[in-house]
Amino acid sequence: MGNNLGSYDVAIVGGGPGGSTLAALLRMQGRSVCIVERDEFPRFRIGESLLPFSMDTFEKTGVLEKIRAAGFMEKHGARFIIDDSDEQECFWFRDGLDKDHPFAFEVQRAPFDKLLLDHAVELGVTVHQPLSATGFRCEPDGAVLETGAGEISAQVVADASGRWTFMSSRQKQRKLHPSHRKITVFGHFKGVLRDETDEGNIIISRFGDSKMGWFWLIPFSDGTTSVGVVADSEYFRESGQPTDDFFWSSIKASRSFAPRMADAELVGKLHTEADFSYTSDRHVADRLIKVGDAGAFIDPVFSSGVFLSVKAADMAAKAIDVAFQTGDFGEASFTDYEAKVRQGTKVFWAFIDAFYNKDFLKQMVTSRRRPLLQKSITSLLAGDIYNEENQLISFLTGSGGAYADDELQALLG
Ligand SMILES: Cc1cc2nc3c(=O)[nH]c(=O)nc-3n(C[C@H](O)[C@H](O)[C@H](O)COP(=O)(O)OP(=O)(O)OC[C@H]3O[C@@H](n4cnc5c(N)ncnc54)[C@H](O)[C@@H]3O)c2cc1C
Repeated sequence: MGNNLGSYDVAIVGGGPGGSTLAALLRMQGRSVCIVERDEFPRFRIGESLLPFSMDTFEKTGVLEKIRAAGFMEKHGARFIIDDSDEQECFWFRDGLDKDHPFAFEVQRAPFDKLLLDHAVELGVTVHQPLSATGFRCEPDGAVLETGAGEISAQVVADASGRWTFMSSRQKQRKLHPSHRKITVFGHFKGVLRDETDEGNIIISRFGDSKMGWFWLIPFSDGTTSVGVVADSEYFRESGQPTDDFFWSSIKASRSFAPRMADAELVGKLHTEADFSYTSDRHVADRLIKVGDAGAFIDPVFSSGVFLSVKAADMAAKAIDVAFQTGDFGEASFTDYEAKVRQGTKVFWAFIDAFYNKDFLKQMVTSRRRPLLQKSITSLLAGDIYNEENQLISFLTGSGGAYADDELQALLG
């Protein structure tokens, strides 16, 4: 037994977008909520390009106006390039199946995460920071979150600890994706040439063949730009280069990124991450619910991470509300939540597998001739992943990775 740090309806581990959004929504339901966050904010974090379908949740918590007022770069589209051939297409969110989600933002996560967390505090959330969660116990009449400074009692604990996977690591439930072993090197730069049609667009350029990778370019409103390379870990190892050299030699060899980076000047340092795609055996347990990256993280090519975290926070808030109404906090009461989270991840994984399949990518960058296919792709890129009208979703999730263009054509022209 340690110090008693208080008793709340819900205790949340992690004050990233998933944790602070869940906290805000629970406060709006009238619950008492605390967040335990181990880092001081603001702090650097990767995950900077948002999706339009996150905006609904930000509007619901009342933080959208603050995001707008903070002056982050507006994002209206996503450009995809095949580096070797220079074939490319820009997907504009206004042209998706749903017309009500035309924009998102490109955000430096240091001020963005602080803004979300401050908003939760304004709604009445207690934040213990900097403080690490160290353990979780389920007791007959509640849960206990153990921390470096003492214990917190709650009816439910939500794990929103990101890729540190606080609970899944302890439960030995974290499973690396077997075939997506990647490394990424990235940084912020001055002097990068942005998209010519709309400087707020994200640019993704895929290079190489079987051994391959891709670049991202994410522009910020202060004139700096986030640029990163993602590659198969094996490809990186075979290069024999240190990570910084690997970054620069990949850029120099790129048809689409070398000219954009010709005058680029690094601000700060380059960062590296590896093996970032994983899932968990379970996303819930008695009195426990995992939100966002704490449960699973998928390849970042479609910038889905923050969207999936805040969407999961929205769904978790509903599941927790029902649990309070019924008084049932058992694992079974959270299984619908888990199924919906898995469904969202499955849709993005199918789309990601398609991106890594050169035939599909070719269809993607030449989809201008096929308006329905282009609309369907645009909707997925916006995060409209639960839209049953989008036939591309059932095509991709049912295809098992085999992309017969004639079948796709029969369905979507
Ligand atoms: C290379 C790369 C590029 C990416 N690009 C994008 C992108 O363009 N767009 C996008 O949407 N996403 C992107 N992502 C994903 C994005 O980073 C995450 O999906 C997103 O940050 C998840 O939010 P979260 O709230 O679940 O977790 P996090 O943002 O990771 O927040 C978790 C918080 O928990 C805290 N924490 C951890 N352990 C403890 C503990 N024991 N006690 C207390 N606190 C703890 C951490 O300090 C952290 O603040 C990218 C990821 C990678 C690897």
